[in-house]
Amino acid sequence: MAKRDYYEILEISKSASADEIKKAYRKMAIKFHPDKNPDDKSAEEKFKEAAEAYEVLSDGNKKARYDQYGHAGMSGNGGFGGGGFGGGMNMDDIFSQFGDIFGGGGGFGGGQTRTQQVRGSNLRVRIKLSLEDIVNGTQKTIKVKRLKVVPGATSKTCTTCNGTGAQIKLMNTMFGQMQTQTTCSTCQGVGKIADKIPEGANNQGLRKEDEEVTISIPAGARDGIQLNVRGKGNDAPFGGIPGDLLVVVEEQADENIKREGDNLHQELYISFAEAALGTSKEINTVGGKVKIKIDAGTQSGKILRLAGKGLPSLESYGKGDMYVHINVWTPQKLTDSQEDFFKKQVENGEMLAEPSGKEKTFFDKVRDFFN
Ligand SMILES: [Zn+2]
Repeated sequence: MAKRDYYEILEISKSASADEIKKAYRKMAIKFHPDKNPDDKSAEEKFKEAAEAYEVLSDGNKKARYDQYGHAGMSGNGGFGGGGFGGGMNMDDIFSQFGDIFGGGGGFGGGQTRTQQVRGSNLRVRIKLSLEDIVNGTQKTIKVKRLKVVPGATSKTCTTCNGTGAQIKLMNTMFGQMQTQTTCSTCQGVGKIADKIPEGANNQGLRKEDEEVTISIPAGARDGIQLNVRGKGNDAPFGGIPGDLLVVVEEQADENIKREGDNLHQELYISFAEAALGTSKEINTVGGKVKIKIDAGTQSGKILRLAGKGLPSLESYGKGDMYVHINVWTPQKLTDSQEDFFKKQVENGEMLAEPSGKEKTFFDKVRDFFN
């Protein structure tokens, strides 16, 4: 089924401000809230759809990616963003958004208390990847310091909130009187407090420990993209769900290969003699070494295009190209016999510059670039 446009879902324009996005979502969330539409599957779908739209549009990075690539940019090549979008939001995720939207723990005037499962906090790490890793995908094992439950930690029900994790207040709001929940100040919303704490654990029975986490990086990742490793953030105290490890991909600059969108560029130096006689050279591409042929009489500044040797495109199934910029190296020191040889060429009027007119001059190249 085709996914609807996020802006359309929230009934806002693409230029909507953060505040307008928030207001639009609040409106939709109230309209389609399951408490108000019991047993209405289509309302529930709309409720989830709006939450997903808000999740993306309220996040600067995700919004920018969505604006540029649409839904394709959200789900990537199938490997990205367990981050909750792409239809993967569950009701817990949605209600956890509400703290931001409604200022409380997510309660509506429906009267029932929704016990939220406590989640550990997310951890965020950056991972540096070579161009090759980014293109081909890879697995990396990194060391993460995360809060882990210390064996032997036990808990008892929080008496302040009777285990609900929330304190309920009646509030007058712009929607009329609403019952709102705030996080219990005694247990911070966990619903439980420590009973027995083993040595070395904090008052929630947790301790920071090193853990090795293996991360699969899908082919075609990009600088700044965030991968989600579920459950490898901090453990939640007393039996909640652990948070996620958010891995931000950082592209390591390559000395020889430069990127320009999906295309790659590299400089290749050949000797004067090689340019005159023709040669073949092995060059590095992200898919491994490739042998290229350089014709006899190749001019400095010639650009060879290796089709499909660039990066996989995020927008289509195609691939970019690799451009090899040929530089002819003029010898800076000559042996006596070389010097004699070249002097003779000049005296005899040999080896002159004789452009046939087919060569593109610097000015042609500049003009091509701007056209
Ligand atoms: Zn409590």
